[in-house]
Amino acid sequence: MSETQALVVGAGPGGALLSYLLASRGVETVLVERQSDFDREFRGEVLMPSGLRMLAAAGIDLEGVRTRNPKRFAAYFRKRAVVDLEIESDAAAELPRIVSQPEMLEHIVCLAEGTGHFRLVRGGSVRDLLSEDGRVSGVRLRTAAEGRIEVGAQLVIGADGRASVVRRKLELPMRDRGAPMDIVWCKLPWPESWPGGQVRGYVGGGHLLIAFPAPDGLLQLAWVILKGTYGELQKRGVEEWVHAMADHVDDEFAAHLVANCNAISRPFLLDSVTDCVEGWARPGALVIGDAAHTMSPVGGQGLNVAMRDAVVAANHLVPAFLHGYDLEAAAARVEPERRPEIDEIQFLAAQPPRVVMGQRFFHAWIRGLVSVLVRSPFVRGRVGSGLIDKFFFGVTDVELRV
Ligand SMILES: Cc1cc2nc3c(=O)[nH]c(=O)nc-3n(C[C@H](O)[C@H](O)[C@H](O)COP(=O)(O)OP(=O)(O)OC[C@H]3O[C@@H](n4cnc5c(N)ncnc54)[C@H](O)[C@@H]3O)c2cc1C
Repeated sequence: MSETQALVVGAGPGGALLSYLLASRGVETVLVERQSDFDREFRGEVLMPSGLRMLAAAGIDLEGVRTRNPKRFAAYFRKRAVVDLEIESDAAAELPRIVSQPEMLEHIVCLAEGTGHFRLVRGGSVRDLLSEDGRVSGVRLRTAAEGRIEVGAQLVIGADGRASVVRRKLELPMRDRGAPMDIVWCKLPWPESWPGGQVRGYVGGGHLLIAFPAPDGLLQLAWVILKGTYGELQKRGVEEWVHAMADHVDDEFAAHLVANCNAISRPFLLDSVTDCVEGWARPGALVIGDAAHTMSPVGGQGLNVAMRDAVVAANHLVPAFLHGYDLEAAAARVEPERRPEIDEIQFLAAQPPRVVMGQRFFHAWIRGLVSVLVRSPFVRGRVGSGLIDKFFFGVTDVELRV
């Protein structure tokens, strides 16, 4: 059995960034990723300044990684434009960016490989945890090349996403913060009449459709629908559900959707989950990112909070690994520092779907009120900017200290 100091399960943004931070500070790190390339796993692509700042603090630039900068935001209520804003700042670090995740992750693991303290096991699927004297002591995994192998570690970090094996094997208690929605996710050609970099949100009739530029130049659509209704739509086929989407947007965009029905690529359904583990650390193990707190896609926070978890984890773990401090005490300090931000973001992100999708009489009344209020520059300025700050920059201060 091979041995390492840190073993990270899952090379999403949380696991990849933490692995790079540990390895670049001299901690022997093994990162196990079940996919053989980063294209295969789905993840969102909007990075907020709160996440971009973590990359910058780690010294990771995005040169060579395809990105798009949103330049305009338009909101439609019952097919009518209610907001059309030019996004003003030129300071790229102060605005969200749409970043190709396969390219960003490849870039981070490539940097980690250059540290001399890092090994990536691609196509390695962690199946179980090893334990010794009541603490986690490593993992059992399967790779195509080597079959079943075991790797011992001083600390196993589960960054293996919403269906985390580490979380399941540790039997960590979870709090469900359910959001009643499914999301249809697909791409289609960019509409010629739309300005470059435009982001649009369509609200109305119990639906929410968000359209934004993907890093590959296509238009990314996220269609948020009441949980369970997609099953029926799926039976009716792509053409019919494109028509259903078209019913909720302005005429010009509806015509574009219908005309490009056959050009729609990679449509799939995502079951939106929001939950949080109570107690992220156990002797010999820690969970971060979606494995600790699966984020709803609303607000584009999951990638960002996963990277912020990684930075906080590195702050506590690097000194413990390098100077022989108590590793378990260090791992236990991550959750108390991260929970205030996670709790607030999960609460805030749950509100728009409740209002947009809610079927009670007062939800319709709130929708009408919101559509009037968002037209007011005063409300947009006072209420909007406070909320936007939290989604853009985070709720708590997170700084890389190692
Ligand atoms: C529709 C939708 C849209 C979204 N859009 C955005 C957005 O725009 N912006 C945003 O910030 N967030 C968004 N999110 C959320 C975001 O994708 C996640 O929160 C984020 O990817 C979590 O990062 P992570 O590193 O914790 O885990 P993940 O990115 O889920 O990575 C986990 C990794 O672990 C690997 N793995 C799993 N099991 C094992 C195993 N047993 N052994 C080895 N490896 C394993 C997986 O292959 C995967 O690569 C969206 C989510 C959804 C559902």
